[in-house]
Amino acid sequence: MKTTRRGFVRRVGAGALGAALVPKLAFGRAPVVVTTKSFDVAVVGAGVFGSWTAYHLQEAGRRVALIDAYGPGNARASSGGLSRVIRMGYGDQELYTRFSMRSLELWKTLLGRAARATQLQQVGVLWLARELDPLTTKTLETLSRLGVKHEKLDRADLERRWPQIELGPITWAIHEPESGFLMAFHVVQAVAQMAVDSGVEYLQAGVMPPVGTGELTAVTTRSGATISAKTFVFAGGPWLPKLFPELLGERIFPTRQEVFYFGVPAGDARFQAPAMPVWVDFGEAMYGVPDFKGRGFKVAPDSHGPPVDPDSLERVPSPEAMAKAREFVGRRFPALRDSPIVFSEVCQYENTSNGDFLIDRHPERPNVWLVGGGSGHGFKHGPAVGEYVAARVIDGKPVEEKFSLLTKQRVQRRTVF
Ligand SMILES: Cc1cc2nc3c(=O)[nH]c(=O)nc-3n(C[C@H](O)[C@H](O)[C@H](O)COP(=O)(O)OP(=O)(O)OC[C@H]3O[C@@H](n4cnc5c(N)ncnc54)[C@H](O)[C@@H]3O)c2cc1C
Repeated sequence: MKTTRRGFVRRVGAGALGAALVPKLAFGRAPVVVTTKSFDVAVVGAGVFGSWTAYHLQEAGRRVALIDAYGPGNARASSGGLSRVIRMGYGDQELYTRFSMRSLELWKTLLGRAARATQLQQVGVLWLARELDPLTTKTLETLSRLGVKHEKLDRADLERRWPQIELGPITWAIHEPESGFLMAFHVVQAVAQMAVDSGVEYLQAGVMPPVGTGELTAVTTRSGATISAKTFVFAGGPWLPKLFPELLGERIFPTRQEVFYFGVPAGDARFQAPAMPVWVDFGEAMYGVPDFKGRGFKVAPDSHGPPVDPDSLERVPSPEAMAKAREFVGRRFPALRDSPIVFSEVCQYENTSNGDFLIDRHPERPNVWLVGGGSGHGFKHGPAVGEYVAARVIDGKPVEEKFSLLTKQRVQRRTVF
């Protein structure tokens, strides 16, 4: 590999696609090339799911192409936000707790030392619970059973350790000291770069929705390039309904989600780690991340907004969502009552009917895999999902029933939080 003047990395002697300039941490500028080269696997979508899948497949010895329309962790992608929570608690959904545990291990071991130091922040996660709180109660049982480090706290503990939280009806909590948050779009770009460094060939191009039935031999890009492969993984996040309108048009529901960052008072360390962990107020469907690197104290509603199109969505916050976040902050974190919103994000969840991921083969195209449905909680699981998908692509074993297409309904009834 040789680095060019503009910071790209030229993959020398790597064949037709390899003759392209692969960007080094600047994925937006790779030129589109026409290629007759055939890959073992082409992964469409370089979000957290696609990037990790491409990486694991390449590490398993496959020749892999990774293709993205707008670039890894772009501002339209569900993985494109500033931060994403990583927590082990999932009520009684043990599979997701296990995936989180495995992912945390992989985030820690596979990210380079520099990336890990800044992009994974193990500041702890605090689950704020009301007296009767079935989800948090089940979470407590699951964490204990699986040996996840945690502590149960009563109201007096909470008042002593986090006096900056006005607890209201909250009477107890679970603290997961080793959980925290990931710097989302930065870390996805680091994973995509890690995949390229291990041999994945990255191409920035919009892939046309595949037509026909039976084995897929190639995909075509909007500019007319074709990419051939033996197997295709479509990890298009909220674009899956556009890529497969008949199959997924009514089974993946992209919803508008708004996130606000409140400026903390000058010199006030109470809303940064280590004084403040990630917190989840499940009773109010709100969660947040402490101020990090001066970006503000993140507050986000977890309830689903109206349906959106990820290509054309105007990402400007609505006055209603702003007012709701402000009212909540004023109540739960009174010291921030008059704080300005210093940053905001409008993103989308890509929900399945109940929140379980979609990981399955296309029913009419045996060499096409559909991977997505992160449903507002997928980010943390990127490493484990990538590992799981790579293993299924290679060994052909059936997927868990809960990930299957058959379990994805046309009506939303959320059961995974
Ligand atoms: C506001 C918000 C907060 C969230 N908070 C959390 C959290 O705290 N913790 C957590 O674990 N999860 C969280 N999530 C969920 C998580 O971010 C998503 O589940 C996850 O990022 C989905 O990743 P993905 O790879 O499936 O999709 P994406 O990141 O959307 O990636 C899909 C990629 O496919 C590309 N693509 C689409 N169509 C084409 C095409 N035709 N050709 C080529 N490329 C294409 C896109 O450009 C995109 O880069 C949150 C989501 C949002 C929106």
